[in-house]
Amino acid sequence: MIEKRQFYIDGRWVDPAEPHDFEVIDPSTEEPCAVISLGHQADTDAAVAAANAAFSGWAFTPKAERLQHLKKLHAVYTARAEEMAQAMTAEMGAPIDMCRQQQVAAGAGHIENFLNEYEGFDHVRPLGPHAPSDRIIYEPIGVVGMITPWNWPMNQVTLKVIPALAVGCTCVLKPSEIAPLSSLLFAEFVDEAGLPPGVFNLINGDGPGVGTQLSTHPDVQMISFTGSTRAGALISKAAADTFKRVSLELGGKGANIVFDDADDKAVKRGTLHVFNNSGQSCNAPTRMLVQKGRYDEAVETAREVAENMAVGNAHESGRHMGPVVSETQYNKIQDLIQKGIDEGARLVAGGTGRPEGFNRGYFVRPTVFADVTNDMTIAREEIFGPVLSILPFESEDEAVAIANDTPYGLTNYVQSTDDARRVRLARKLNAGMIEMNGQSRGAGSPFGGVKASGNGREGGIWGIEEFCEVKAVSGWAAE
Ligand code: NAD
Repeated sequence: MIEKRQFYIDGRWVDPAEPHDFEVIDPSTEEPCAVISLGHQADTDAAVAAANAAFSGWAFTPKAERLQHLKKLHAVYTARAEEMAQAMTAEMGAPIDMCRQQQVAAGAGHIENFLNEYEGFDHVRPLGPHAPSDRIIYEPIGVVGMITPWNWPMNQVTLKVIPALAVGCTCVLKPSEIAPLSSLLFAEFVDEAGLPPGVFNLINGDGPGVGTQLSTHPDVQMISFTGSTRAGALISKAAADTFKRVSLELGGKGANIVFDDADDKAVKRGTLHVFNNSGQSCNAPTRMLVQKGRYDEAVETAREVAENMAVGNAHESGRHMGPVVSETQYNKIQDLIQKGIDEGARLVAGGTGRPEGFNRGYFVRPTVFADVTNDMTIAREEIFGPVLSILPFESEDEAVAIANDTPYGLTNYVQSTDDARRVRLARKLNAGMIEMNGQSRGAGSPFGGVKASGNGREGGIWGIEEFCEVKAVSGWAAE
C-alpha cells in the first residue's frame, strides 16, 4: 500500500505534527490503496507561515522568472502524465484511458492556456487619457488557501495554482481527503521543477479540520474553493471575520434544452455528457428539456445510450464508465434514484443497485428518467451520479422558465438550428455559461456560475485577475 503521510511545506516533505492516519479507498475495489495523514492546526500554521514568508520575494520576482518556473512545472507535468493518470484512476475511479485523455489533459491544457494568457498580462495599466498620471496596479492578493474536490482533481488544482503563482501569490493547497494522491504527486512535480521554497505548500486534511483552519486563518488573504454548495456557504461564513476574498465554484443542475429543430445527434451527445466521469461533473447537463415534437424519440435515444453504456473497473483500458467516488456518494445516488421512482418519474433505463455482474465497487447503473417535473427531487438536487432526468416542454418561454427555475446557475445548454433563437436564449438563461449545439467553450473562456453555483470565474484573463488586488495610484512618474 502507498504510504504518503507527509506534507509539502517550505520546499520540503515534512511529517505531520501529530499522527492522524486516513485511508484512501480505490472505488473500483473498495480496498484501501493508500494511507495519508490529516493535518492539525500546527500543520496549517506551518504551511501558512511558509507561504507568508515566501510571499514578498515571490511577488517581486520578475514576471519572466515566475513564468520560467511555471514552464518547468508544465514540462514535468507533461513528462510524468502517466503517473498522474494512474493516481487519479486509483483515488477517484475515472477509467484510465479517460484519465489520460480528459483528466490529465484538462490540467495540461489549463497550464498552457494560463502561460499564454499571462505573457500578455499587464500588472500596471493606465486609467485613461483623461488622467495621464494615474495608474491601476494589479497586485498579487497574498497567501491563497486552495480547497479542492475529488471529481476533476487536476483540472481544479491547475485552475487555481497556476494563475495564483503566475501573478505572484503564494499558496497552501488542501486537496480533497478522498482523492489526495494526484495533488501529492503535483507537489512532487513542483519540487522537481525547483520552485522556490514556500511558494507552493500542500497539507492534507478534512473540511472541519484543515479546511476551516485555512478559512479562518488571519494570514490567509483569499480562499479559492471548488466543491459543494453546502461547504461553500460554510467557508464564506468562516472567512467573514478576517475579510478574506472567497471565490466559489459550486454545484450545478444544468438544463439542456432540445428544440424540435435540434440536430440529430443532440440527444445522444447530451446523454453521453451526463454519463461522462460517472456523472460527477458540476456542469453535467442533467435536466434534459425536450420539446413535444421530439420527446418520444429523445426518450428512446437516451434509453439506448444508457443501455449500451459499458460499465467497468477503472484500471482497465477502454471507453467504459467507472464507479462513483465513494460509498457515501454511492448511497446518496441510490437514495435519489429511489426518490425519483417514489415521486412518480418514469424509469426508462437503469435504476437502483449495481449493474449486472458487479457485487463490489461503487458502480452505479446508467439511469434515465422520463416525464420528470421540475418540482421533483431529482430535478432540483445535484445528484452527482450517472442519472439523466428528461422533462417535456411546449414553448420557448416555458423552456426558459423551467431552465431558470433552479437554485443553481452554472452551465445551460441549447440545441437548436435557429440562430436567432440561440442568441435570444443565450441572454435569457440565468447561468455563468451557455453552450450551444455541442460546441465547447474556447481556450481562455471563463468558467463559473451564478446563484448557488458560486461567484468565481476560473480560466483565462478572468481567472488571473481573481488572484489580484486592484490598487489605484495618482501622481505616477511622468514618462
Ligand atoms: P465537499 O464540498 O464536502 O468537499 C470539497 C472540498 O471541500 C474538500 O477538500 C473538503 O475537504 C472541503 N470541505 C468540506 N467541508 C468544508 C468546510 N466546512 N470548510 C472548508 N473546507 C471544506 O464536497 P464532497 O463531499 O467532496 O462532495 C459532495 C457534493 O459536493 C457532491 O455530491 C456534489 O454535489 C458537490 N461537488 C461539486 C463539485 C463542483 O465542481 N461543483 C465538486 C465536487 C463535489
